[in-house]
Amino acid sequence: MRTPLIAGNWKMFKTVSETVAFVTDLRDLVKTAAGVDIVVAPPFTAVHAAAEAARGTSIAVAAQDLYWEREGAFTGEVSPAMIKEAGAAYVIAGHSERRRLFGETDAIVNRKTLAAIGAGLTPIVCVGETLEERERGEMLAVLDRQIKDGLDQLTAEQIGALVVAYEPVWAIGTGRTATAAQAEEAHAHIRKRLRQWFGGAAADGCRILYGGSVKPDNIRELIAEEDVDGALVGGASLEARSFADIVTRAGRPAV
Ligand code: PEP
Repeated sequence: MRTPLIAGNWKMFKTVSETVAFVTDLRDLVKTAAGVDIVVAPPFTAVHAAAEAARGTSIAVAAQDLYWEREGAFTGEVSPAMIKEAGAAYVIAGHSERRRLFGETDAIVNRKTLAAIGAGLTPIVCVGETLEERERGEMLAVLDRQIKDGLDQLTAEQIGALVVAYEPVWAIGTGRTATAAQAEEAHAHIRKRLRQWFGGAAADGCRILYGGSVKPDNIRELIAEEDVDGALVGGASLEARSFADIVTRAGRPAV
């Protein structure tokens, strides 16, 4: 049984002091939440402060991106080891904003994913089709390519511990959520491919999150789907109360 995971992607929001205030509030709000893993992903500058504020709680911290080299002349980049030492346990790779605004390809996502795993971080690998791709009937082919190329060279064991986030680009920040049935269609397809390419244990262990305008009032419907193991939340993760409501509603008794 996969433990649901709710991850908040703050994007380029929140300073260090705002992060500490948020995590302090969230600690209280999710104190009684059971059967759900909680992750917040602040900007790099606040990763360490978030980890310190979350120490001793069930809240884990993610970075929003990484570079694949260990160290060197890569101005502006941050290595997996730096992220890990700052206190993060997870890292997002291949968010659609990075793909669209910063030209990230599946090959780059793959290098980042492998580097994250190599440093002991759990990658949250984002995939998802644009509206144009969906309307051209290419959704499943796009997911196949992103999964195959993005997860190239991972072992079955690594896939089993991985987090994949299905985020249809047309649903991110638009208020337009995929229906639970649309989400399940994509998630079931991804799990089917993981089963074919990496085996049953890998497919059964991998958590597949849905992302795209998730809010307290739609999380229950989404998480009720068999292959939806949680959510990657953008806008609604910026306010502690709404994020905590999503966390609480996603919780189910761990088996
Ligand atoms: C995201 O950025 O990953 C996301 C899902 O954003 P939102 O929840 O705001 O659509």
